[in-house]
Amino acid sequence: MSGARPDDCEVLVIGGGLTGLTCALLLHEAGHSVIVVEAADRLGGRVHSLRDQVSNAYLGDLGPTWIWPQAQPFATRWLQELGLKMTPQFETGDTILDIATHGAPSRHQSPGMDGGHRVRGGTTAIAERLAARLPSSAIRTGARVNSIACEAGSIKVSTDNRALPAIRPRRVVVATPLRVAAHSIDWSPALDSRIAHFMEATPTWMAAQAKAIAIYAEPFWRAKGLSGRIASRSGPLIESHDHSGELGNPAGLFGFIGWPRQARKVNAEALRSAIITQLVRCFGEEASTPDYFHIEDWAENPFVCAPIDVAEPPQHPQLTPSLLRKPFWDDRIFLAVAELATVSPGLIEGAFHIGSQVARGVSASSR
Ligand SMILES: Cc1cc2nc3c(=O)[nH]c(=O)nc-3n(C[C@H](O)[C@H](O)[C@H](O)COP(=O)(O)OP(=O)(O)OC[C@H]3O[C@@H](n4cnc5c(N)ncnc54)[C@H](O)[C@@H]3O)c2cc1C
Repeated sequence: MSGARPDDCEVLVIGGGLTGLTCALLLHEAGHSVIVVEAADRLGGRVHSLRDQVSNAYLGDLGPTWIWPQAQPFATRWLQELGLKMTPQFETGDTILDIATHGAPSRHQSPGMDGGHRVRGGTTAIAERLAARLPSSAIRTGARVNSIACEAGSIKVSTDNRALPAIRPRRVVVATPLRVAAHSIDWSPALDSRIAHFMEATPTWMAAQAKAIAIYAEPFWRAKGLSGRIASRSGPLIESHDHSGELGNPAGLFGFIGWPRQARKVNAEALRSAIITQLVRCFGEEASTPDYFHIEDWAENPFVCAPIDVAEPPQHPQLTPSLLRKPFWDDRIFLAVAELATVSPGLIEGAFHIGSQVARGVSASSR
């Protein structure tokens, strides 16, 4: 399959997140010619790690952090298969309750993370290992699909990458968030109104969230008997966790930001300073000077977050209507994204599950 040309591929996978890469890899292994087109200039989608700009060493996860091996057999098996190891989330010590109305933050014991584990080397390693098993010629980044047309019984897919000619695959797997696909791809003929409605009604898990990571020379909170965890009503971080590497190196904390999108966007510097102030309030003066500080605002990523994701309050992923798991346009178009999974929808586990399921469906329909 190496050397697949864009105009003669059997299956085009739109979106190089975990679902798209899982699906593409399984199709490739089953002997289909596959091309993955990814809008961003990197693979992984919501899976994205912060790295040291000089050494490229892994510093932290800007998207997903945890897998629960006891409850998530698909992710656990895939990680083993990809040669990736997991390590339990550090949670020894007290949690800081940071509730301004009750005065200074206080220490409490709180329930653990239910067996949440981190991926050694960061969750980006999952996308990298999947992609490494595909021929490099099968992956095109920096190519946003802007139209999918069915013309005289054949499919034509166009991107905004001028170097990439229109693609005429026999099957298409749309592995992008459903709202993004409904909102930003020009479908011709128009999508069936029920499919379009359900796509637009499906929130993309965590799409409008923002995460902050602070990296320090030492995990100084551990020496104070603190787990790195904050539960806060005053914010800006509504929760934080220890995000250090093996044996506390590099030492890090991460937190989810409670400020709404508009406030984050307009007051970026004030937000940074308010987070540092909160970390000092909760963990002490050592928190005032992180070696690195990064905010990843997913609401600003148009390939993940559609306008409606920002307008609505976040909702936990629900089971989506089965209509969205059925191919359409004569079994040529398949939708595939973590939110569509019937197992752990919206999560990494769901991405592996639906990616595998759709690969089987594409193979079966090609016979
Ligand atoms: C902050 C955050 C924290 C999270 N925490 C966890 C966690 O701890 N545990 C967990 O299990 N899950 C977590 N998740 C969810 C997890 O990241 C997702 O379930 C998983 O990454 C989804 O993968 P996907 O491939 O289905 O979708 P995505 O990762 O969204 O991939 C879709 C891809 O499509 C691309 N794309 C979009 N439009 C186009 C286009 N027109 N043309 C070409 N390409 C396009 C995008 O760039 C993207 O690469 C978290 C997510 C976020 C954002």
